[in-house]
Amino acid sequence: MKEFKHFINGHYVASASGNTFENRTPVDNSLIGLVHEAGKAEVDAAVRAAHAALRGPWGALTQAERTALLNKVADRINQRFDEFLDAECRDTGKPRAMASHIDIPRGAANFKAFAETVANQPTEGFRMDTPDGRGAVNLGHRTPKGVIAVIAPWNLPLLLMTWKVGPALACGNTVVVKPSEETPATTTLLGEVMNECGVPPGVFNVVHGFGPDSAGEFLTQHPLVNAITFTGETRTGEAIMRAASVGLRNISLECGGKNPGIVFADCDLEKAVEGTMRSAFVNCGQVCLATERVYVERSIFPKFLARMKEEVAKLRSGRPEDSDANFGPLVSLEHREKVLSYYRLAVEEGATVEIGGGVPDMGAELNDGAWIEPTIWTGLPDDARVIREEIFGPCCHIRPFDTEAEVIALANDTEYGLAAAIWTENSARAYRVAEQIEAGLVWVNSWFLRDLRTSFGGAKQSGIGREGGIHGLEFYTELKNICVKL
Ligand code: NAD
Repeated sequence: MKEFKHFINGHYVASASGNTFENRTPVDNSLIGLVHEAGKAEVDAAVRAAHAALRGPWGALTQAERTALLNKVADRINQRFDEFLDAECRDTGKPRAMASHIDIPRGAANFKAFAETVANQPTEGFRMDTPDGRGAVNLGHRTPKGVIAVIAPWNLPLLLMTWKVGPALACGNTVVVKPSEETPATTTLLGEVMNECGVPPGVFNVVHGFGPDSAGEFLTQHPLVNAITFTGETRTGEAIMRAASVGLRNISLECGGKNPGIVFADCDLEKAVEGTMRSAFVNCGQVCLATERVYVERSIFPKFLARMKEEVAKLRSGRPEDSDANFGPLVSLEHREKVLSYYRLAVEEGATVEIGGGVPDMGAELNDGAWIEPTIWTGLPDDARVIREEIFGPCCHIRPFDTEAEVIALANDTEYGLAAAIWTENSARAYRVAEQIEAGLVWVNSWFLRDLRTSFGGAKQSGIGREGGIHGLEFYTELKNICVKL
């Protein structure tokens, strides 16, 4: 039986309590292995190892040495690509075709990109006048923040975890990672890679477990944790913010979304259909940036809806390794229950189910998995819960609109503010509308097109702070102004 242990101070360790929980694949609900659940003792050991490592060989490395080490980590992930791919696909059920293009390569690239960004970052300097005429020089000097707690979700496990671990280590911090209880495998495997590359013990640590009254809570409450970076649900973000308030620790929160897609009549229809299909259904809709509300200008509404239904009908559910399949299961049976409760609610709230709406028959071998049908609704009122709450499944509601002002108001009528996609060939309109959207990310004629040098994060209840490029520096470093009187 495979066991997923904690990775503390360069060693894999079991929980002293002997507590474990099952890790099952959503493909057919078969058992992958047992995950050790960290108690306070393991979390304390991991945080203390991370704290000590700051003052060990890691803390003495030059920026160039750190950059070289992180490049080695990225290369080693790519050398062990198939192992990471197998592990990620087993945990999540996602198609190999997707994980081999997105999850694993981008997960590795995060180490290189952030090492490069941090190494090339200039610092601020101000020369000032003084009454004696000699002046003074101010120089911004950045130091690592210390021990960073990384709390990660399950939808893009390796990619979203390294998106935080990459910049944290590039800035010279040490980390304790708590991967999602649903997807422990790739984070555990990364411990081996760290050892193989010669990353000193204690720099990268992993503790497994759940949130409340488990590893997540113990980690965020630990007094030697200097800052917490979290990706997950908004309500969990609130709990983490409360924990971080004790001792005034810094937080970076990347939370939920209820993202609009806006399709103007002057769009390239096929581009808009292809992009909206991806934004609603890739990764079985389990992407924080996913479009769950689609607004289409009335004159093209019937045509757009018909094309979307045609494309949804072509999606093929199947095992990750099935090359004909491009649509995986949800991450777990529990999450499927949540998404299905919204499928039922949509009908109760008056939706027309245009396509999907249920559970497919996958045959005896797969029917125990977390399979679900991709779904499109129309006809819901704007105040329906299905329109207002994040579902995090393969579904969207499509509604017609008449004017630009109307659609901007509809798009902004949400407590979330993560992302939006606008489809139009009129670039003046695209920019005008984008400027008025209350979100951290707006794509025009694309979706999820990411340059790692740019900012990433949400407005309103979608989060606090920006990561990506130099933006993470504010979070991952302490900025000290050194003023030298001449
Ligand atoms: P989640 O909030 O349930 O869990 C995320 C992580 O937090 C897990 O590791 C979990 O164990 C841990 N956790 C839960 N309660 C905790 C607590 N009280 N203290 C400390 N840790 C705790 O989220 P999820 O279901 O894993 O992921 C889906 C959510 O993540 C969606 O809402 C999605 O929008 C969001 N998400 C956001 C982004 C983004 O960049 N904005 C990216 C991906 C996912």
